[in-house]
Amino acid sequence: MDHEGALTPRQEDIERILLSKADIASIVCRMGEELTKDYRDSNPLFIAILRGAVVFFADIIRAVQCPLQIDFMAVSSYGSAAKSSGVVRILKDLNTPIEGRDIVIVEDILDTGITLNYLIKNLESRGPRSIEIAAFLVKDVPGQRSAVLPRYVGAHVPDAFVVGYGLDYDERYRNLPYLGVLKPEVYS
Ligand code: 5GP
Repeated sequence: MDHEGALTPRQEDIERILLSKADIASIVCRMGEELTKDYRDSNPLFIAILRGAVVFFADIIRAVQCPLQIDFMAVSSYGSAAKSSGVVRILKDLNTPIEGRDIVIVEDILDTGITLNYLIKNLESRGPRSIEIAAFLVKDVPGQRSAVLPRYVGAHVPDAFVVGYGLDYDERYRNLPYLGVLKPEVYS
């Protein structure tokens, strides 16, 4: 792995780097090819789940080589705690009607899947033609089965709290160009 991107001011809070800039670029390229193949003729609506997915979203939509539209939703998630609350609220809804549309939900990381499960049920009630998930990361937690299954997955990560490439802890670290494991002493 290429870890050049590690030289930033907050490097001391990162326990180890899981995905370098180069790793991320090749993941985005591969997912872009998969999505291009599947959505070539359907003018899909790509929905970014704010705020964690925005960095991945900006990259993935440029890696898809077919017409698409974009919109944004915000749901409540962890806040400043490093643990799922199970409480999901829509903070910002779509501007676009989705009836009859092919939808691709772009998410930063799937952990329990509670957030997306709720969101998908909500979106299904609006009559889209299809809904699929493109998750940059899936967290592998022993004994846990995610409530939803993403069709497109960037990488699997171990059961640790990860930051960077859009993912935050307490609104920090989103601008790290790589994905790393946060030192537990930072949030404990
Ligand atoms: P789920 O509902 O799947 O348990 O949680 C999904 C959301 O929790 C993600 O969109 C993300 O906002 C947050 N999350 C889960 N695991 C992590 C993690 O390791 N790091 C960060 N920064 N956020 C996480």
